[in-house]
Amino acid sequence: MHELRDERLDRAGVRVLLVRDDLVDTALPGNKWRKLKYNLLAAREQGFGTLLSFGGAYSNHLRAVATAGRRYGFRTVGVVRGEEHLPLNPSLAYASAQGMTLTYLDRDTYRRKHTPQVLAELARTWGDCYVIPEGGSNALAVRGCAELPGEIAEDFDVICCPVGTGGTLAGLAAGLAPGRTALGVAVLKGAGFLLDEVRELQRQALGMPTDNWRIDLDHHYGGYAKRTVELDAFVADFHHRHGVALDPVYTGKLLAAVYDLAEQGHFPPGIRIAAVVTGSAVR
Ligand SMILES: *Cc1c(COP(=O)(O)O)cnc(C)c1O
Repeated sequence: MHELRDERLDRAGVRVLLVRDDLVDTALPGNKWRKLKYNLLAAREQGFGTLLSFGGAYSNHLRAVATAGRRYGFRTVGVVRGEEHLPLNPSLAYASAQGMTLTYLDRDTYRRKHTPQVLAELARTWGDCYVIPEGGSNALAVRGCAELPGEIAEDFDVICCPVGTGGTLAGLAAGLAPGRTALGVAVLKGAGFLLDEVRELQRQALGMPTDNWRIDLDHHYGGYAKRTVELDAFVADFHHRHGVALDPVYTGKLLAAVYDLAEQGHFPPGIRIAAVVTGSAVR
């Protein structure tokens, strides 16, 4: 954890502490590891030998499941959205090299992937598997992410993270001490539905949602995995100033949002923000 030294933040009276959760484990970075932890324990306790999960062709989550399976002795099946494209892209090639079996669902079936019919069909093909939802976000993932705030030794008022499926935000907010709040930055366009997703994840994990978080919907820079000249310039400048390579999909948008909100006077002066670097650029 280290504080950013930056005159733009000083002018806004905002202190930003960077929480390098991307460094917890190079092959299982940050939130992907936290979301898997209690799922792996549950899979083992329930006697499953195979993990099955879902993702797009560039899914960080499928990479993490593949790594975890190899490391902790589970077979893994990755259900990928869309058609197979050969040669495999670097994400899927990595997952496959970890021993993950890849299978593909057309977009229409993929949309129905969590329905009993599609799950039954997958079970017929792949046998009894421990099923982890897309992005790894379920009640056990929330529990894993809720451990992070307690590990931060420094004082802070607001904890910030990027929001893809919402499991990380749901967990961080659940793990906060009273008086602190969580701010998620949606990396998708038109992501108002995430409010319900986070509430539902918290309901599943805690019995009821907490009211100590919100989601910024205005810093998606065009949509999921989309980028702009402005975002690329921010990421390059941040690397130059602070030596930290943010990824343009998640953590780049998070920090760009924090700086933008600070410069717009959105935060009260003197506020201390803990910005969680949830993962790293895919290498
Ligand atoms: C997957 C991912 C996220 C999104 O987390 P959710 O729990 O799905 O909201 C954020 N940051 C990074 C680096 C990721 O890889």
